[in-house]
Amino acid sequence: METIEPSQQNSTEDSQELKAWIFDIQRYSINDGPGIRTTVFFKGCPLRCLWCDNPESQYQLPQLFYFESLCTKCHRCIPVCPNNAISVGPDNSVITNRELCNACGTCTEVCPNEARVITGRLMTVAEVLEVIKQDAPFYRNSDGGMTASGGEAGSQPEFLTELFKRCRENGIHTTLDTTGHVKWDTLEKILEYTDLVLFDMKHIDPTKHKELTGLDNNLILENARKIAQSGKPMWARFPLIPGCNDSNENITAVGEFVFDLGLKQIDILPYHRLGTGKYERLDMEYPLPDAKPYTEEQLDEIKFRLESTGLEVRVA
Ligand code: SF4
Ligand code: SF4
Repeated sequence: METIEPSQQNSTEDSQELKAWIFDIQRYSINDGPGIRTTVFFKGCPLRCLWCDNPESQYQLPQLFYFESLCTKCHRCIPVCPNNAISVGPDNSVITNRELCNACGTCTEVCPNEARVITGRLMTVAEVLEVIKQDAPFYRNSDGGMTASGGEAGSQPEFLTELFKRCRENGIHTTLDTTGHVKWDTLEKILEYTDLVLFDMKHIDPTKHKELTGLDNNLILENARKIAQSGKPMWARFPLIPGCNDSNENITAVGEFVFDLGLKQIDILPYHRLGTGKYERLDMEYPLPDAKPYTEEQLDEIKFRLESTGLEVRVA
């Protein structure tokens, strides 16, 4: 599937009708910024991080999730597919040809077991805001708010800017959780309505960064410096992935870079395997089949190394 460019976003002259592809809205979130928050997950991302725990966030258009464990092999879905994308495989199993499937959703309507589900929905600003506003009392009592995450929320910038603007009008704190890979001109407009930036630091070496995520980090590091210089509140976050970016050299280099930005703190996001089931549901291969979560001792050691760069370190 192709990524939709910002100019192709569904919009009309009425900004209320701007729409974005959203794959989840999580209420009562406590790990995406201060206080209790509602996190809006945008579909579409320029990066392809090997450890991505939301593979459905990578492509901007809707996709089909297939839950094999729920499928009773009744085969009702097969004849209804307008694209002949579903067929019978070995042992009566159900195979979906992902090249032919355009996530039209027809098969989901006939499946009696909800084994087929579409992820990704086009939503208006008003629809998303409505969900966010439901927890306004919790935000007020906890100094929380809303967080735009993904994927890369900045890949649907017109919608995001309008959503942030409307949140601000409603007294709701806005946080942007970003990969940093967004053109500065675009990011600058979004930042006008952003109260806090959560900025991921993945690898300091551009070549290694490209191997791990598909793109080098030149734009990302440049944006990090510009945001820091602008004085916008920013939290640096470091997804720590075994064998990918946890060498002593990289840990120290990331710490020093963040310290030089003038930040006092960094959050470690330790590797976990919670997203592996999603790869199966999308018929995708999990890129890190042998990676194992860290032990407490290993995390303590990494924390100590990062702290030696002068930062306060939190483990999420
Ligand atoms: S979502 Fe549509 S195209 Fe895809 S398998 Fe189902 S019916 Fe076919
Ligand atoms: S309709 Fe649902 S339960 Fe039946 S074969 Fe298709 S996916 Fe499986």
